Amino acid sequence: MKIGCHCGAVIVDQTDDLPFKGHLIPDQEWFATYDAIDDQVINPIADGRLRREVAYRLARTIISRPAREMWQCTACGRLYIDDFRGRLRCFLPEHENPDFEVLRSRAKPAEQVAPPEPAGEKRSQGS
Ligand SMILES: [Zn+2]
Repeated sequence: MKIGCHCGAVIVDQTDDLPFKGHLIPDQEWFATYDAIDDQVINPIADGRLRREVAYRLARTIISRPAREMWQCTACGRLYIDDFRGRLRCFLPEHENPDFEVLRSRAKPAEQVAPPEPAGEKRSQGS
């Protein structure tokens, strides 16, 4: 998938472990997600009512259900976030030199090679 940023850059999302992509779980779903994991996965596993293979898939489904994707443009720092209706929304950083690591979870490797930009679907940005 590709997102055409307002700055002219293209955000390419075609692999895993991206340092400029995140998954957002709204606070309104946070504890419901914990409860669903307890009720639908951990308790049934503990009681022997659920097989391990089914539990893995179910836990991932429960976590993914409320999660929405978000990306940061590595050229300008704009954030693109899917809203609860699935519309892509854009947020512009307040400062000229934005933090480009808000979605990163660990330090950058010593050398990072930019992946080639393969052809793929391009999403339009929301209004
Ligand atoms: Zn941009």
